Amino acid sequence: MNKIVIAVDGFSSCGKSTLAKQLAKTLNYIFVDSGAMYRAITLYFLENNIRFNDTVAIERALKNIQLKFEYVAETGKSDMLLNGVNVEQQIREMRISENVSPVATIEAVRTFAVAAQQQMGKEKGLVMDGRDIGTTVFPDAELKIFVTANTDVRVERRWLELQAKGEQVSKDEVKKNLLERDHIDTTRAISPLQKAADAIVLDNSNLTREQQLALALQWAKERM
Ligand code: C5P
Repeated sequence: MNKIVIAVDGFSSCGKSTLAKQLAKTLNYIFVDSGAMYRAITLYFLENNIRFNDTVAIERALKNIQLKFEYVAETGKSDMLLNGVNVEQQIREMRISENVSPVATIEAVRTFAVAAQQQMGKEKGLVMDGRDIGTTVFPDAELKIFVTANTDVRVERRWLELQAKGEQVSKDEVKKNLLERDHIDTTRAISPLQKAADAIVLDNSNLTREQQLALALQWAKERM
């Protein structure tokens, strides 16, 4: 069987990462959460008071940013390291969710992130989830999945996730944030979120995790 690249794209909180992680684990592939990279860059900008319209400061800041994923055996997950520091918890906070989509519209930021992502895919055997993976990062990916789910299902899932982490936010706030990010992500000038022409749509509103994994695995095996 040949190693392939699997691109998983879709709207915010529609279960992309869950599916991508499950696929990678089952196939023994590398999993990359590309959103975590945009989130870590956002954290750096906020902590260093980089204004999102200051192109010179942004270019300079990007030279000082090192992103790495570190596998954590206890959780079986990969955590995001920003300049060697584990920022996995921080990048999931609401203040990052509220700022990440504007940051992800910045050309220099996208060039930086996409270059790093393409480097990770050189050897294939990788599942990456995001917004532009099948269109821009890996336009030649052997399998492209575009995940969707209805808005209420997405809000409920995201809210439960935040609750579990002890973050007190209302469902209305979560919904507002998801819709806002969807809007910015689909309308930005560079690499907007859109289904690649050759992507398979997976609506998981009424699917269990096991059911969506079984479908995706079948598509992957057909392409190996
Ligand atoms: O996947 P996640 O929701 O964590 O991504 C956070 C944000 O990063 C998205 O709302 C989007 O603005 C941006 N993003 C992107 N391109 C990607 C992955 C994420 O623009 N490939």
